[in-house]
Amino acid sequence: MKNNAFARKLAIILGFFGISANFLGTLISLFTGLAHVSRAENFIIDTIVCFACTLILAFFFYYYCFKTKNYNRFIFVCITFCGFVTFTAMYIVTGNIVCGFPFYMMIIPVCYGFSLPVKKIKFLFPISNLIFYIVLFVLTFTAPYFPGRTTLSNTSMIQHCTSFSVTYLFLFFVCFLVSKQFMKQNQKLEDSEKNYRELSSRDELTGLYNRRALDNRAELGFSSAIIYDIDFFKKINDTYGHQIGDIALKNLSQIVLKYCSNEFELYRYGGEEFVILSRLPDSLTLELFQHVMNDVRMHFIVEGNSVTISAGIASFCEGYENTIKLADENLYQAKTTGRNKIYMNGKEIE
Ligand code: GH3
Ligand code: MG
Ligand code: MG
Repeated sequence: MKNNAFARKLAIILGFFGISANFLGTLISLFTGLAHVSRAENFIIDTIVCFACTLILAFFFYYYCFKTKNYNRFIFVCITFCGFVTFTAMYIVTGNIVCGFPFYMMIIPVCYGFSLPVKKIKFLFPISNLIFYIVLFVLTFTAPYFPGRTTLSNTSMIQHCTSFSVTYLFLFFVCFLVSKQFMKQNQKLEDSEKNYRELSSRDELTGLYNRRALDNRAELGFSSAIIYDIDFFKKINDTYGHQIGDIALKNLSQIVLKYCSNEFELYRYGGEEFVILSRLPDSLTLELFQHVMNDVRMHFIVEGNSVTISAGIASFCEGYENTIKLADENLYQAKTTGRNKIYMNGKEIE
């Protein structure tokens, strides 16, 4: 199931109710046994069975929901275990059909219905569970030594099995359809949220990640920051117009993007300023950026004229904002000492 958040919620609800119900069963069995109102003759065994079920469920819950975080597997294990073991034990302990325990067994088709989006749980499980219950009911009516065997008639047995099966299947399909619809809507919502997040982190003109994305990604850590800025860009706008300026920004982005990767990420910082977050060692960062500079010198051409950039590089120092500030100071030095050059950690390169 793609929808992990939904699986997690379902797993926790199932785990919580499953463990509480088993524990409650243990207490009820113990107290009714002690007060001599229990139908079962040997209440100690009933209490131990219920308590063992509580422990097994608690173990599954801990193992799948906290250790491996495999919520889907837990849902599968939890429903199947409850369906075949816990509910069967409780059915026998509480005095089976005459005590109305099959009413509680209806929790199983509901759980299966809501969990079927989990690919591994196929229709085989709810159907085999239903067959298992019917066999259990039939045994209650017919097997001579079945615990708490009822003396009700065979007509009553057929009526009982039919109404149980119809309700079971009805509940299962209703829950299945509701959960399918819910999952579909949830998926749509998640997709549009993802789309929106992607849109809000991109710069419209160049398609590069924007400053908002930079602020978020910087938290993941980096080893150095580069800021570069187009030289005399205002002149380009003034001479050829804003549209040509826009095309120049896009072209420059395409040239630099060729060198980018997860270790060398490009962002539009604002206007005609760009930032690269590098996770490479400083020497490699500089070497790679020198290639970028040379490529720009050769291929960044606006209306037949070569255009250059200036850059400042700062190694990571006392946080993201401070590092960007240092890189900006290096850029300022590159600008004031002639442009078309790199300054790194206060020193001119080349
Ligand atoms: P310097 O070498 O000192 O960087 O000079 P400069 O002219 O590049 O610097 P300045 O900061 O004076 O000018 C930057 C210009 O960039 C001004 C602004 O109109 C232009 N600009 C900012 N964003 C965009 C944009 O999205 N499209 C276009 N066409 N121009 C932009
Ligand atoms: Mg500028
Ligand atoms: Mg500029």
